Amino acid sequence: MHELSLAEELVAECCRLAGGRRALSVRVGCPPTVDRAELEEGFYSLVPGSALEGANLEVQEAPCELSCPCGFVGQVGPEQLAGHFAICPQCAQARPVPGGVELLALRLEAQRST
Ligand SMILES: [Zn+2]
Repeated sequence: MHELSLAEELVAECCRLAGGRRALSVRVGCPPTVDRAELEEGFYSLVPGSALEGANLEVQEAPCELSCPCGFVGQVGPEQLAGHFAICPQCAQARPVPGGVELLALRLEAQRST
């Protein structure tokens, strides 16, 4: 499942960035090509036992950008999207769009001074 592998990458990246500290919250940008509920489910199923355990996942809608070989570059809305493809408004061809989740912010607990 695509969303689960995105969640795995996200959790792995956050753990790396956390560097042994605990994460309090994670904010990500989620394009309309990604099923938000499945991403959240994947995230919360992966975090127990990791630095992200107990962290809150905040999902923010991210625009989906299409860069088409015909020269069109721009944002596409849900009405142009079908699965992981977008219909180019300029040439009407279906083009794959990136379905990545972008890490926007990672809040870590303060380093203990002791
Ligand atoms: Zn095009």
